[in-house]
Amino acid sequence: MKTGRDRDEWLDEYRGFKKYLNQCVMCQSTGYDPVKIQVKEGLYFKDKAMEHFHPLALNEIGLCLDCAERFEAIQGPGREA
Ligand SMILES: [Zn+2]
Repeated sequence: MKTGRDRDEWLDEYRGFKKYLNQCVMCQSTGYDPVKIQVKEGLYFKDKAMEHFHPLALNEIGLCLDCAERFEAIQGPGREA
């Protein structure tokens, strides 16, 4: 991973990449959507993207896997409102 400043400059240059980015609503970590970017073969900035970002999958409520686990631990399994 490069520094944050490099990454921001790179994002400025490849604005189209922003739609492939995910951000966790809880920890605010940012990464590319591993599913969307796989589908998009021949994306010219894909290799660059992988240099600058790590993959970040989100669940249906916008949590990364780490936060989803933590969230479930707090909520307890299968608890309904
Ligand atoms: Zn998170």
